[in-house]
Amino acid sequence: MRKLSVGVLGATGMVGQQYVRLLEGHPWFEVSYVAASPNSAGKRYSDAVAGRWHMRSAIPAGVGDLMVGDANVVEKAVGECDLVFSALEMDKQALRGLEVKYAAAGIPVFSNSSAHRWTEDVPMLIPEINPEHLDIIPAQQKRNGWKRGFIVVKPNCSLQSYITPVYALMKAGFEVRKMIIATMQAVSGAGYPGVPSMDIVDNVIPYIGGEEEKSEKEPLKILGRIEGGRFVNNDSIRISAHCNRVPVLDGHTACVSLEFGAKKPALDEIIRIWRGFRALPQELDLPSAPRQPIIYLSEADRPQPRKDRDSDKAMAVSVGRLRECQVFDVRFVGLSHNTIRGAAGGGILNAELALKRKLL
Ligand code: NAP
Repeated sequence: MRKLSVGVLGATGMVGQQYVRLLEGHPWFEVSYVAASPNSAGKRYSDAVAGRWHMRSAIPAGVGDLMVGDANVVEKAVGECDLVFSALEMDKQALRGLEVKYAAAGIPVFSNSSAHRWTEDVPMLIPEINPEHLDIIPAQQKRNGWKRGFIVVKPNCSLQSYITPVYALMKAGFEVRKMIIATMQAVSGAGYPGVPSMDIVDNVIPYIGGEEEKSEKEPLKILGRIEGGRFVNNDSIRISAHCNRVPVLDGHTACVSLEFGAKKPALDEIIRIWRGFRALPQELDLPSAPRQPIIYLSEADRPQPRKDRDSDKAMAVSVGRLRECQVFDVRFVGLSHNTIRGAAGGGILNAELALKRKLL
């Protein structure tokens, strides 16, 4: 099979660098185009990221010499790539328009930004949970008059650490009515240079703009359904979120309390459900899919970001500390790698699923 040529928009940023790293040697995709802001445009990629390359491996040889394009100039990407991963950090309204321009130019867009998360016919995809939401793409293309282009987005990184374990219980037949979540989010979630060190070292910041609203609302669309060519939320769950920035480099942790409906699973049943959970990406054996999407750790003090964020290509969610809750029914701790499972790795998994579904 010919590898598809892919562009990375925002390739110089935290998430963009993860795309460049993760796509090295990918069996289906090859980076042929990189773009960023006008400040980086016109430079060799390796020069544009000099002094701010944050990956532990070297810049992939084939990418270092690519000339960085201006992501705002869509025409540059036409003919260069079969799809783009969008990891841009810019004004949301401008970004919404820009991603539409890429799709209109015939280039499918897999986005990490929040710009299109609430566009009524754009799927907010976690392939283990709502792969059928890709069924909306023909309606999206028809409404916009696009032939080949379309837009798929990823949800916010904060909710990746708990939504799959919660969904696994719902899929096993246990209705979830209420959730209270307290997140401890890594500094890489704010991009680079992100939170100033004087603010975060020796500190916890109990506020991340917009994050609590995203954590409370995005799960409702992910767990929702398609009706008449648009998404309808699953409003049956009530979520309350507290989001905190903590001095951890990578890996978002969430402490979660759950209240079930009439049917309540026993603790050992929950662990059995999590350990046995498999979904479409595993069945299809997608290259970026974790073999075991939810890893339950029985040690009393896990999961921990430094020890557990890289589990199974950093694409698995690690959970632990499952116990009864004195107010709701049960509580647990979840953890996922925010710039991999929560961003670039998740975006690549979305594109792998779209390719298998013959949308690319
Ligand atoms: P970042 O490190 O700040 O990188 C931002 C990227 O956008 C850089 O490549 C930058 O290019 C480019 N850019 C900035 N202004 C631009 C403009 N006016 N025109 C074109 N390009 C522009 O941010 P990040 O953390 O990688 O986040 C990227 C996106 O992913 C954001 O939408 C973010 O919300 C989302 N996201 C991030 C995470 C995470 O954990 N970090 C997780 C999920 C989703 P220059 O280098 O040339 O300035």
